[in-house]
Amino acid sequence: MLEQFEHASILVLGSGTSVGVPMIGCHCKVCTSNDQRDKRLRPSVLLRLGPARVLIDTSPDFRYQALNFGIDRIDAILYTHSHADHILGLDDVRPFNFMQKQEIPIFASAEAWDVIERTFRYVFDVSPSESSRPRLKPHLFEAAPFCVAGMEFQPIRVAHGKGVVHGFRFGDCAYLTDHSSIPAESLEKLSGLDVVFLDALRHNPHPTHSTVEESLRTVNLLKPKRAYFTHISHDLLHAAVEAKLPPSVHMAYDGLEIPIGRADSQ
Ligand SMILES: [Zn+2]
Ligand SMILES: [Zn+2]
Ligand SMILES: [Zn+2]
Repeated sequence: MLEQFEHASILVLGSGTSVGVPMIGCHCKVCTSNDQRDKRLRPSVLLRLGPARVLIDTSPDFRYQALNFGIDRIDAILYTHSHADHILGLDDVRPFNFMQKQEIPIFASAEAWDVIERTFRYVFDVSPSESSRPRLKPHLFEAAPFCVAGMEFQPIRVAHGKGVVHGFRFGDCAYLTDHSSIPAESLEKLSGLDVVFLDALRHNPHPTHSTVEESLRTVNLLKPKRAYFTHISHDLLHAAVEAKLPPSVHMAYDGLEIPIGRADSQ
């Protein structure tokens, strides 16, 4: 339960889609916006659960995110899936190995683990090396909940185009980044939420991502107390979209920190 932690929060490290916002070389009004909330690093969140820090995904911007937001420890990493925008920052966990003097537990589905292992072949090479490599302790999850930092995490299967990837429910919060739809059996696991994060790439339909309108429909089904949209492309200007959303629904932005559990009720 989240109530066990005096302080718990979800910190948005990146609210952008795979190329980030601004997109390299683009001069559109979102990419050139002066609003800090339109600067979106690749998608990731950090859960602060009392003294523990649980990272969801290691984006290609992870080093910058860790410096930017003063992350000084990582107790575990959870992976939603193995797309490049969610895994490519993995090498930058090495300083946490140095500081914490231990392996970092990582949690992934068998499918995601297979890709991570192939992509980072040098990391899992057991031959001696003169260079440092991330030191990780892999744990594979299936449908059953697993425990990290005293908190139970329920994997939530979602469709991401033709693929099946995961979100996570922890207490009455859920983080569902990349998805195009949520199957009925997963919707059932998302009742009674305080906070939910949902993919909302843009307005126009996309084969692998939910749109603002589709995610608003999900919000109407789930009726969480608060919903935050993430994995946002350069099609959405923060202020313009935020102004049109219902009061309980918000556009996430980098640096947004949402108190949860006991911290929220104070
Ligand atoms: Zn993604
Ligand atoms: Zn642009
Ligand atoms: Zn993806």
